Amino acid sequence: QPVIVAIDGPSGTGKSSTSKAVAAQLGLSYLDTGAQYRAMTWWMVTNGIDVDDPSAVAAAADKPEIVSGTDPNHPTITVDGVDVSGPIRTPEVTSKVSAVSAVPEVRARITELQRSLAATAERGIVVEGRDIGTTVLPDADVKIFLTASPEARAARRSGELKGADVHTTREALLKRDAADSSRKTSPLAKADDAIEVDTTDLTLPQVIECVVTLVEE
Ligand code: C5P
Repeated sequence: QPVIVAIDGPSGTGKSSTSKAVAAQLGLSYLDTGAQYRAMTWWMVTNGIDVDDPSAVAAAADKPEIVSGTDPNHPTITVDGVDVSGPIRTPEVTSKVSAVSAVPEVRARITELQRSLAATAERGIVVEGRDIGTTVLPDADVKIFLTASPEARAARRSGELKGADVHTTREALLKRDAADSSRKTSPLAKADDAIEVDTTDLTLPQVIECVVTLVEE
């Protein structure tokens, strides 16, 4: 019986590193759903769609072909056959992704991709995002909600961005979380039956061990 693990939470909580490591350790597939929303956003920007015009975004939402590779040791993402794993991490895409992902047509399209990947993962899958436990896979076997203080999250994110200013990073991160939490369609939220893990004072290996234990229980 394949095991489905949903890991949700805001950015900078260690979601991606944890999810990848847990999937690799347990021999499961891995899906980064944020990368899918980023890929959709990259396509919109590249094709001159005004991301602040929800009807323009909605009209284009079914155009890009987004394909995710689910090997946790080598996750990949392509749009219309082009590897976009680098371009989806630019500050421009990061600043525009919340607007694109608030559009219901975008969410419907990407949710469908996520469910079909989860349904075909032979041994199971770790899916990380914002609405996995609440909306995408409400019947997941294990649901984890990762949190951390805004300070810890900003420090981790600016470390990843190689020395980006902590204050600027903190503001951008809080703004994105506020937008993701307040949108009408499947906002960032903890499922009632999710286990909350506060990672503020934990090292990455500790968080990984904690989640592995929860999945094995
Ligand atoms: O996880 P990451 O920071 O790459 O996610 C980028 C953005 O994608 C989030 O800020 C959010 O707007 C969107 N997202 C979402 N639902 C998910 C995953 C990500 O709306 N399940």
